[in-house]
Amino acid sequence: MGIQLTETYPKVVAANSRQTLYFSLCGSDLESGVPQVKVQPMEVHTVSHAPEYLSHQEDRYPWISLTPAGDGLYCAPIDFAGEQRYSVKVRLGDNVFYSGYVYGVDPDLAALRPYKGDTHLHTNCSDGWESPWDTICAYRAVGYDFVAITDHGRYYPSVDTQAQLAPLTDRFYVMPGEEVHPKGGSCFHIVSLDAGRGVSPVLEQQPEYVAAEVDKILAQRDLSALPDPWAAAFRTFVAREIRRAGGIAVMAHPYWECGGEYNYQTVEFLHHWRQGDFDALELLAGCDDTGNGNNLQEILWNDLRVEGCRIPVVGASDAHVPRDRCDYDHFNHQFTLVFATGYDDLSAGIMDGRAVAVDRRDDKFFRCLGPYRYAKYARFLMREYYPAYGALTVAHAAALAAQDTAALAAAEAQIDAFLAKFYAL
Ligand SMILES: [Zn+2]
Ligand SMILES: [Zn+2]
Repeated sequence: MGIQLTETYPKVVAANSRQTLYFSLCGSDLESGVPQVKVQPMEVHTVSHAPEYLSHQEDRYPWISLTPAGDGLYCAPIDFAGEQRYSVKVRLGDNVFYSGYVYGVDPDLAALRPYKGDTHLHTNCSDGWESPWDTICAYRAVGYDFVAITDHGRYYPSVDTQAQLAPLTDRFYVMPGEEVHPKGGSCFHIVSLDAGRGVSPVLEQQPEYVAAEVDKILAQRDLSALPDPWAAAFRTFVAREIRRAGGIAVMAHPYWECGGEYNYQTVEFLHHWRQGDFDALELLAGCDDTGNGNNLQEILWNDLRVEGCRIPVVGASDAHVPRDRCDYDHFNHQFTLVFATGYDDLSAGIMDGRAVAVDRRDDKFFRCLGPYRYAKYARFLMREYYPAYGALTVAHAAALAAQDTAALAAAEAQIDAFLAKFYAL
């Protein structure tokens, strides 16, 4: 009865090329006619609109008859223009029974793949609820490609888990991480990513060195306009120490409301970015139940960019529980998409501005913030890639949780088959 589309591929193609699109169709209506496809570029097109510009959308581009390719597969060669999203419709007679999208990318973007990651989260090695292993399996189950475990004052959970994971799979990655605080604890937090060592031991075990370095900064900079010059100098020191350890210094949740005030005062936020103290901004942070903090961060990020400040961004859940929507956690709602060549390119991708912060309400409604080109491509992937990919990583995560190598290999073969169809690059 009727007609049904069960699969269509590829979804990402090379811009300015001819590519064959495939559609798996079934249903008795196929006996009544020839299905047709129409591909419409969203903005860059090779066919002039005039004089048809005012015509109905359905008439702007031609319908192309699909050719049977066996086993219910139908295909058509399509000429793709510039890098952009294309809408794809398939019909039989007057019945338009499929509507979706394909994305064309230029060669430099074609060389990169998206890596969905959380750059700030906790396990029971600090104040999180679950073990590092259970935590990373929960992330993998919802389509993450990497996580940075950033326990408070502790670097070892990230590198220990990385060492445990690496022999089992190369399809998921734990990045070294740590959330750094002043000795004795404090409300201002700085996330260290991809460093070669922990920074907290320096703060805890070398007070003379710390004091001397902070004093140097106080002597070099006029911090008199700031409410707490020592705190500002200390944050600058911590960021420098993270860089000395080979890591990325991330300004964590600046507008997190802690103890009745914001984590960073606005003048402090502006000071650190104008000085270039940090490498990336946690533009979208999970510890924000009302959206107030993320909203203020986004506004200031915009204002500073107008000033000429270059500020790479990440999105992070700061989840303490790896489950959806607990009272105060935002697992799988704020995250980062990094466009990179591999795991060893993730840090460079963040630093180079190839990262997009995502605020996801569900698979249909989400916001992507970052450089326009990447954020636009991220929007397409959020709709067309991640739901399908996430369905496949459920089995991979289960195999990982059981440390079952045969099941891991089977899940990875399924993922590889999906990726080979999804990307025609
Ligand atoms: Zn924090
Ligand atoms: Zn945290």
